[in-house]
Amino acid sequence: MALVVLEGMRFHAFHGVYPEEQLLGTEYVVNVEVQTGIAMAAKTDNIEAATVNYETVFQICMAEMAQPRKLLETVVTNIIQRMKRQFPQMKGIKVQVRKLNPAIGTKMRAMENPEKYQPISGRTEAAWVQDEGNFVSVCPRCKMPFLCYADDTCWCKELNNIHPATLETLKRQFGTTCICQNCLKLYAG
Ligand SMILES: [Zn+2]
Ligand SMILES: [Zn+2]
Repeated sequence: MALVVLEGMRFHAFHGVYPEEQLLGTEYVVNVEVQTGIAMAAKTDNIEAATVNYETVFQICMAEMAQPRKLLETVVTNIIQRMKRQFPQMKGIKVQVRKLNPAIGTKMRAMENPEKYQPISGRTEAAWVQDEGNFVSVCPRCKMPFLCYADDTCWCKELNNIHPATLETLKRQFGTTCICQNCLKLYAG
């Protein structure tokens, strides 16, 4: 297994629920960790395609950080979704978004009401949200490990070449679990 990591990507961004966060923005650090390396499970079975390009990872993070969101949870989830669409061969992913010196509604309220001003900003180093996914499944038919994102970004949702009746039979036989691409090929028309 290989890890591709982008650590400490710095951005000035405007996420948050408080007006000062949305107007002035604050500093953020994004960390992304991708597990790769099951070549046989890769969508294309092509070693070229199995490499996660970290320049693309940076661009994905930059694009999502440029979209102001109220919650860091939204930012983290959107980065993971974009990563899945871009790289169909990730074994796992971990994404962390850190808001540095979180304002927690201070600066502007301090101006309106200085005697009650309690600066939390400067006392809290960071607020962060992290999420992760592991995409290794075991094929219920051949018992081999394979990759499945288990959502609409997954290769196994592209089943145009399989007859609907065949698909129904597969669902009856294997439940909602995906079967691997090799097994699926046996049923493709
Ligand atoms: Zn299989
Ligand atoms: Zn799947």
